Amino acid sequence: MGNVNVGVDIPLTSLKPHYDGILFAYGASEDKRLGIPGEDLEGVYSARAFVGWYNGLPEYADLDPALDAGETAVVIGQGNVAMDVARILLSSVDELRKTDITEYALERLSMSRVKNVQVVGRRGPMQVNSLPPTLLQSPNLQRLQAAFTIKELRELLTLRNVSFEPIDPSLLPADTKSLARQPKRLTQLLAKGSTTSASTALRSWALKFLLSPTSFNPSSTSNPTIGSTSFTLNAFRPDVDPLSKTAAVSNTSETLSLPSSLAFRSVGYKSTPIPGLVDLGVMFDEKQGIIPNDPSGRIINPELGPGPLTAAHVPGLYAAGWVKRGPTGVIASTMDDAFASADAVVQDHLGRVRGLNADSDGEGTGLGWEGLSKEVENKGVRRVSWEDWKKIDAVERERGKAKGKGREKIGRVADMLKVLDG
Ligand code: NAP
Repeated sequence: MGNVNVGVDIPLTSLKPHYDGILFAYGASEDKRLGIPGEDLEGVYSARAFVGWYNGLPEYADLDPALDAGETAVVIGQGNVAMDVARILLSSVDELRKTDITEYALERLSMSRVKNVQVVGRRGPMQVNSLPPTLLQSPNLQRLQAAFTIKELRELLTLRNVSFEPIDPSLLPADTKSLARQPKRLTQLLAKGSTTSASTALRSWALKFLLSPTSFNPSSTSNPTIGSTSFTLNAFRPDVDPLSKTAAVSNTSETLSLPSSLAFRSVGYKSTPIPGLVDLGVMFDEKQGIIPNDPSGRIINPELGPGPLTAAHVPGLYAAGWVKRGPTGVIASTMDDAFASADAVVQDHLGRVRGLNADSDGEGTGLGWEGLSKEVENKGVRRVSWEDWKKIDAVERERGKAKGKGREKIGRVADMLKVLDG
């Protein structure tokens, strides 16, 4: 049911009487902040907003990033979202024109003056010191520190007319033979770099390692637009467990500043509780940003334990995706994980396990979709059906065809509804 903001347009509890089960798969709608000075200066963007903007998410249609402010962009964080941001900033508009990127983004990108993109991480590509040879042999060794993955790195390294600043070889293991497949491939790609030379390139990019951001700084006291980003240099800690993913570097006393006409913070996403979860007996884990659940995706209420695992289950409630396990993994991992949750729903249904209204003395209507539709109508909210969605989809494809691309996305909800109204 599209165009219905559950918890805002209608209370979450209004779903309950009509269904035996609810599965929460509403993802991560916020991005993490760095909590450093200058984060709200003009020209400092959330990567999430930027990605939403060029992908046609209505929420960000008016972002209008200042891509003509200058030549250097700094991206904080080295995950795949950071790589996506860098790829869009570095790609030629003619290449992007063939994709389903929004028309307004293409127009803005064609005015971009960005020539150099620095993608900055607080750790290294991987832990290279302090590894005993026995650990080096372990195929399960979690040595990687960079969060980006091989495919996304390769895409950036093979962009036309874009050069890559070679990385310091001391950051990579000299001997790749004993590495597991993923770190080995990544090391080889990083060491090889790009085939485009800096002298012929139109644009360039670099991966900067071991730098923790400390502030975004204005261009001048009279100009509130970002001009530079300050960092503290980090060093690998030889004393920590090389398997540890978090405590592998520490700050030094050295600092560094990078010129920045634009900056993006890309340090991960965060799920939030939708209003009304508590009314269904669901707790939200603010620290992990998830709805507590067991590996099958059945929602649990930790306060109801201890006891047998099922004692803490909240009957009829399930989670899938990022709100189930946090904002990690690529699309394939999210799919696998969704299959597990869907299996749990089916098993409970076939096994006649207690559903959502088991304890509510006949409050359940069993009306499902019809019952909820009535509630939505009564609130005066316009719902968008699957048939409606298909009409919007067809118009987007048609408009795209005229421009030689897969689709031309409609960037505003009001314009989508106009399509339905003819
Ligand atoms: P991510 O993979 O979690 O990466 C976050 C990055 O930010 C890491 O480099 C992390 O470094 C850094 N970071 C976190 N806190 C920081 C701080 N306070 N200061 C400096 N750096 C900090 O998050 P993401 O890039 O937003 O991606 C989210 C998920 O979507 C990932 O699973 C990603 O693979 C997936 N995704 C996939 C694709 C694709 O398949 N093509 C595209 C986009 C996103 P540390 O490691 O040191 O914490």
